[in-house]
Amino acid sequence: MSSLFPTFARYPITIVKGKGSRLWDDQGKEYLDFMTGIAVTSLGHVPERVKNALVNQLDQLWHVSNLFYNPNQEKAAKLLTDNSCADAVFFCNSGAEANEAAIKIARRYHQKVLGNERYEIVTFTQSFHGRTLATLTATGQDKVKEGFLPLPVGFVHVPLNDIEALKAAITDKTAAIMLELIQAEGGVLEADPQFVREVRELCDREGILLILDEIQTGMGRTGKLFAYEHYGIEPDIFTLAKGIGSGFPVGAMLAKAPLIPAFTAGSHGSTFSGTPIATAAIIATIETMLIEQAPERAAASGELLISKLRAALNDLPNVVEVRGRGLLVGIECAGPVADIVAALQQRGLLVITAGPNVLRLLPNLLIAEEEIDEAVGILASVLSEQLAAATN
Ligand SMILES: *Cc1c(COP(=O)(O)O)cnc(C)c1O
Repeated sequence: MSSLFPTFARYPITIVKGKGSRLWDDQGKEYLDFMTGIAVTSLGHVPERVKNALVNQLDQLWHVSNLFYNPNQEKAAKLLTDNSCADAVFFCNSGAEANEAAIKIARRYHQKVLGNERYEIVTFTQSFHGRTLATLTATGQDKVKEGFLPLPVGFVHVPLNDIEALKAAITDKTAAIMLELIQAEGGVLEADPQFVREVRELCDREGILLILDEIQTGMGRTGKLFAYEHYGIEPDIFTLAKGIGSGFPVGAMLAKAPLIPAFTAGSHGSTFSGTPIATAAIIATIETMLIEQAPERAAASGELLISKLRAALNDLPNVVEVRGRGLLVGIECAGPVADIVAALQQRGLLVITAGPNVLRLLPNLLIAEEEIDEAVGILASVLSEQLAAATN
């Protein structure tokens, strides 16, 4: 019997080794990895440059606390601010913590910098923002809230892409709007570009902060380093985690200059904020992404993947739609996809779901065209076999 809480529904597979786009289980079976530990190992498994940086850092220093200066943390933050619209960074250890920091700085900015009493955060149905009490309350899905009452006050949900509903939800208590530009866990559902522009205008007009949750869409995944670059707008605050450390557990909350005075010394913190090792992983990951032009490659590979999927799956009535941006791709099916995921695993392809009916493909950003062909071939044969089985 396991000594772990049964919080995770696991597949009957034990992965023991990874390299690049491949994983191996304890039986020696090889898999093509199109889920990357949920958009985490975006440079592939055990990327050489990041590994070397971590090994070097392991020899030097692991942890000292933030009572001392930490050059790695400064450098990681500068890499992020030099390559984004942000002016300051707070490092943490997960996506939920990054969003928690975003919620906290939004409230504190209004209450301590502007001196008003705004605290409400408007988020969207089907969104996913994490598992802490504040972030599960922000999340627009009831399943993550069951049994955890009472929830923190100050969160309001409206449907995505409905500007009138959003306007109606704004009050004199609204501090921020928090948005995933592509709802990833929710089903690979994209915010309409026109809606995004209107949200930005609404925020500017009403003195509301725009928080973008880029935990899954960030770090090159959608074909730009950050997804907001596709939309011609900039957030006031945005959050990163997943792909930023190549598998080392890290997160970051980034904000523009006016927000900086909201987080004074002692107002927020974490023992493990940006440790020398964690920030070595971030530096090496970002530098490798820039050198390898990972976002540009994700853009090109994503177009290739989506067009090949559409060509291969177009005639299958059990496939409703192929959608996505860059290498965040969803295949919406006519029914539940759990059995399809299992059949794909047997054929050596690992994918993940996004809600009950959507297959989510999240290959590493450096994926090769032959690997895309291999995955499309396996998907096409498994989906057509499912169709044949259903119609027999
Ligand atoms: C994964 C995810 C989170 C939560 O990140 P954790 O590291 O699991 O806490 C929050 N928002 C989005 C969009 C995510 O994809």
